[in-house]
Amino acid sequence: MTEETLFTKIRDREIPSDIVYEDDEIFAFRDINPQAPTHVLVVPKAVIPTVNDLDETQAGLIGRMFLVAQRIAREDGIAESGYRLVMNTNADGGQTVFHIHLHVIGGRTMEWPPG
Ligand code: AMP
Repeated sequence: MTEETLFTKIRDREIPSDIVYEDDEIFAFRDINPQAPTHVLVVPKAVIPTVNDLDETQAGLIGRMFLVAQRIAREDGIAESGYRLVMNTNADGGQTVFHIHLHVIGGRTMEWPPG
């Protein structure tokens, strides 16, 4: 875990943020530029740059990230009204931080398809 990203700095409390969840392998915090009333990023503590870098050994981790997202949705009271889970990948996907993260976005009605 030597590689540094913006999110490792949040993980290590070098940059302040509103952390809403943490365990041994995953943490989550509110997005600094929220796109909806709930906008939380669920992030593995280990640096995995993009979805393209995932392998079979990380399948459980990815599943547990979804369970953290489910928990956050429930805690923020949007589980029943609905929410969106997004993981942007590379340039066309709009990824800007190369440390995978699951966006949990909800609290308003969203359009589909995305722009
Ligand atoms: P992506 O564009 O999918 O890579 O998402 C990166 C997200 O990180 C964006 O939604 C940013 O608003 C968010 N972000 C950037 N800097 C911070 C920060 N210091 N604290 C919380 N969220 C951040």
